Formats: sequence, structure tokens, C-alpha cells
Amino acid sequence: MTATLIDGKLFAAELRAAQKSALSALAARGVQPGLAAILAGDDPASRVYLRNKARACEETGVRSEVHEFPASVSASALLERLAQLNADPRVHGILVQLPLPPQIDASQVLAAVSPMKDVDGFHAMNLGALLQGRPGFVPGTPAGVMRLLEHAGVPLAGQHAVIVGRSTIVGKPLALLLLQKDATVTICHSQTRDLAAVTQQADILIVAAGRAKLVTAQMVKRGACVIDVGVNRMADGKLEGDVDFAAVRETAGWITPVPGGVGPMTIAMLIINTIRAAELSLA
Ligand code: NAD
Repeated sequence: MTATLIDGKLFAAELRAAQKSALSALAARGVQPGLAAILAGDDPASRVYLRNKARACEETGVRSEVHEFPASVSASALLERLAQLNADPRVHGILVQLPLPPQIDASQVLAAVSPMKDVDGFHAMNLGALLQGRPGFVPGTPAGVMRLLEHAGVPLAGQHAVIVGRSTIVGKPLALLLLQKDATVTICHSQTRDLAAVTQQADILIVAAGRAKLVTAQMVKRGACVIDVGVNRMADGKLEGDVDFAAVRETAGWITPVPGGVGPMTIAMLIINTIRAAELSLA
């Protein structure tokens, strides 16, 4: 079997193009959605992510701005800028690029983003809404994974979904979204005993561990859907996922590539959330 490739890059571009009518309706009311990003320090990966986000914003018709701070920045300087952005009517979405420098308490900074502008969905109010199944901003990566599964026509109800990784930005919110769609969900993590024994049971296997080629073909049930969230920069500069793509594609039913799978979907969801935030600001 050779797996069906789920092309996140193409689907994300289609989703962004489909925002035209929403953008025209906003423009008719004199509004262009605006996204402000906070970058503290000079983590090279963060810079690449922000560049990709800014490019996708520009292509879609969303205004974007980056607020840069040195790695030595104080929490109070970040909080002051967030207060300004929360009050700025031209800014509808705010994202704080993670990781923040070690002297900064990330949870304190994320809590200072207005929940109405929290397009990354990391504020406790939005995560709480997700837990309760109420409307709110859903983090982009899990939301993007769900859209990919739906787009590929992967059945979810009653299926066993196994997630590798329990972070607050990927694994945990994804588990809640899959439960909402009636999947049976197992979350694995670094302390899981015999990871392969669990992943082999998955109808849907989503890997977000940040360990290159963690998942081998022997760990995947024949015909399963494998979604690779991992992004690992190798010594030669190339990007690798958490899944041994070449081997697993021979076993899986569906598979996402890295790059070109989940990454572009994360950005598309962020942009869609920003457009929604702009609409909500007029409501
Ligand atoms: P994280 O470091 O916060 O969490 C990693 C999780 O993986 C932890 O829960 C840990 O317990 C688990 N883990 C680590 N090693 C493991 C192992 N050997 N076996 C089982 N579980 C293991 O990371 P994160 O922020 O959730 O990101 C995970 C990966 O996804 C990273 O590679 C990151 O770059 C990538 N990522 C991609 C996107 C995207 O848009 N494509 C977005 C966010 C994160």
C-alpha cells in the first residue's frame, strides 16, 4: 500500500483564498484585519515562523506587524506593549511568539493578551471554552489538523486516535477536538511505556513529539492515517518530521509530509482566526 498524501500546503492556500468574500465584507465597512506579533530574542526558528506568517498574511490581505524586543527584555516591557496592542483598534489579533526568553513567565504574558484578540487560542479563557465545547479561538495547529482530517475524508467517530505529545499548544487541545468528533482518544508522552504497542492500535496517529523519525513503519497499523506535526531541523539544515515518512507511507492509508503538511495549516488557521476577530470587533 502507498498512502494517500494529504497536501496541507495546497489546502491551506485554498482556505486562505476562500477568505476573499469575508475580507471584502470587512473592507466595505472600512476594516482590514490586522495581526500583531511579539518577538522577544532572536531564536532563528521563531524568525522563520514569523516570516512565513507575515508572508501568508500579505498574500491573504491581512495587515501584519512584528514588535521586536531583545532577549534581555523585561516582563513589564512586554506587558506594556500588550496593553497598547489590546487597545489598538487596527490590531484584531495578537500572537506572542514562543519560546520567550527564560527570565519571562510565559503564562503571565499569554494571560495579558485580550481573549478577544487571542488568535493563537492560548489564553486560559479560550482553552477553557474549548474544554467546555463553547465557541472561542482554537489553537491553530490542532484546528489545522482537524481541518486536514475532514478534508481528506478520514472517518473519526468511533475510531481510535492516538496522539504522541501532551503539550498545551498541540496534544491536549487536539485530544479535546477529537473527542468532540466522537473519536476514542489516547495520549502518549515521554513517560509512556511501550509506545509502539499503543501506536500500533491507532486508526489515526498524530505525532507531535519533536523527535525526528520517532515513528517507524513497525509502529503503524496498516491503513492508518498518520499526521506528522513534528518539525526538526537536521544538521544539514533540512526539515524532518517525527515520522519516518519514506517507510511509513508504504504502510499507512494517509500521511502528511514535512514540510508541506500541518505547518501551512497552522498559519491558515491563525489568519482565519484573525479575520474572525475583526468580524467580532464589529459585532
Ligand atoms: P513540546 O516539547 O512542548 O512537547 C513534546 C511532547 O512530546 C511532550 O508532551 C513529550 O512528553 C512528548 N515526547 C517527547 N519525546 C517523546 C518520546 N520519545 N515518546 C513519546 N512522547 C515524547 O512540543 P510541542 O510544542 O507540542 O511541539 C511538538 C513538535 O511539533 C515540535 O517538533 C514542534 O516543532 C512541532 N510543532 C509544529 C507546529 C506546526 O505548525 N507544524 C506547531 C507546533 C509545534
